[in-house]
Amino acid sequence: MNAGVQRLAILGSTGSVGTSTLDVVARHPERFQVVGLSAFQRTDELVAQCERFRPRVAVVPDEPRAAAVRAALAARGLATEVAVGAQALSELASAADVDSVMAAIVGAAGLSPCMAAARAGKRLLLANKEALVVGGGLFMRAVQEGGATLLPIDSEHSAIFQCLPEDRGAWASRIDHIVLTASGGPFRQRDPDTLHGITPEQAVAHPNWVMGRKISVDSATMMNKALEVIEARWLFDLPPDRIRVVIHPQSIIHSMVVCRDGSVLAQLGTPDMKVPIAFGLSFPERIESGAPRLDFTQLGALSFEPPDSRRFPGLQLAWDTLAGPAGSTAVLNAANEVAVAAFLAGTIGFTAIHTLNARTLDRVTPALAEDHGLDDLIALDTRARAVATELMKDLAR
Ligand code: NDP
Ligand code: MG
Repeated sequence: MNAGVQRLAILGSTGSVGTSTLDVVARHPERFQVVGLSAFQRTDELVAQCERFRPRVAVVPDEPRAAAVRAALAARGLATEVAVGAQALSELASAADVDSVMAAIVGAAGLSPCMAAARAGKRLLLANKEALVVGGGLFMRAVQEGGATLLPIDSEHSAIFQCLPEDRGAWASRIDHIVLTASGGPFRQRDPDTLHGITPEQAVAHPNWVMGRKISVDSATMMNKALEVIEARWLFDLPPDRIRVVIHPQSIIHSMVVCRDGSVLAQLGTPDMKVPIAFGLSFPERIESGAPRLDFTQLGALSFEPPDSRRFPGLQLAWDTLAGPAGSTAVLNAANEVAVAAFLAGTIGFTAIHTLNARTLDRVTPALAEDHGLDDLIALDTRARAVATELMKDLAR
């Protein structure tokens, strides 16, 4: 790294994780230099971020948005260059003047730039769980071969990472299993027979966390936890039967490691993404995150319960797809992205998300070669989306 200053690219800087990252960065101007930012639709926000953080480059998805951003930057006398399209994201993620990449794009759209950062040996701060769910072993090999450092930002995985021994080789022999905690989302206690009437606004109103709309819906269905089980399988190289899930409605314990001897290590904190973000940014040091502190005298009880498979039928799909042919988790992710977008658009009902995911998995059997590459995964993702979109017609309201 450059004389103590970490040069940072933030992919998805206009989102929930992206803006929280900039909050933490702004507290430590001596430590971080923002080299690149990216937006998809919220270009006004992107321009405001450029004005504040003065990056070398800002990436937008298409020419019309690029023209608007260029004009807005010129009007403010800013020299930030505007780059366009998916390829520009990968170029930013692997640029020579970038030390660290915060991957905060939502969905499989983040896979290619994550792979580019991994191959280029960057320090990769991974919030974009879908990229790992789709990329799986290929992603992890790119990290290893590229000499990248992969730091989990998802709060559960940051918690596990913080509880694990530093010596990676010791993980398998010292750990019995890990326990990912889940809040249970807004419908934890709702009668499962009434879930079909849920509206998008009810689904995105998470009790503990403020997040983007897609992950908020995933939390309400617990598909988020299914994706996180798959994410943990790859991040920590654990067999799926050594990954468990418990509902912990207060979201204070962010996850736990159960050691061979029965000792349990947990990481606690207020539910604020600035904590795992600051940890990833500063690892192995610790810096001020700006998150409120836990006050144990005010905390009250911490409670736990098993997830109810009638309310959350999608959770089991994590273990099912991990046991299936390679690429099954990519099919599940693609179906779920199509389903959540359709639910948010009002096209299908809430419980139809599970139906569509299960039907797409029944219909699409991946046949990836042992030595498959990124293009094969992208083709599988595209095929699964097409099938899910077709199957959705039978489920439309
Ligand atoms: P948001 O929806 O708030 O932000 C997503 C970001 O990605 C935005 O900057 C958005 O741009 C950009 N984006 C969206 N689609 C595309 C695309 N097709 N190509 C390029 N850029 C795109 O999501 P979150 O910040 O909530 O989540 C980001 C990732 O982090 C997700 O994978 C999520 O699962 C994970 N995560 C989030 C947590 C949270 O607390 N929010 C916690 C743990 C993990 P724009 O806004 O300009 O349209
Ligand atoms: Mg999480």
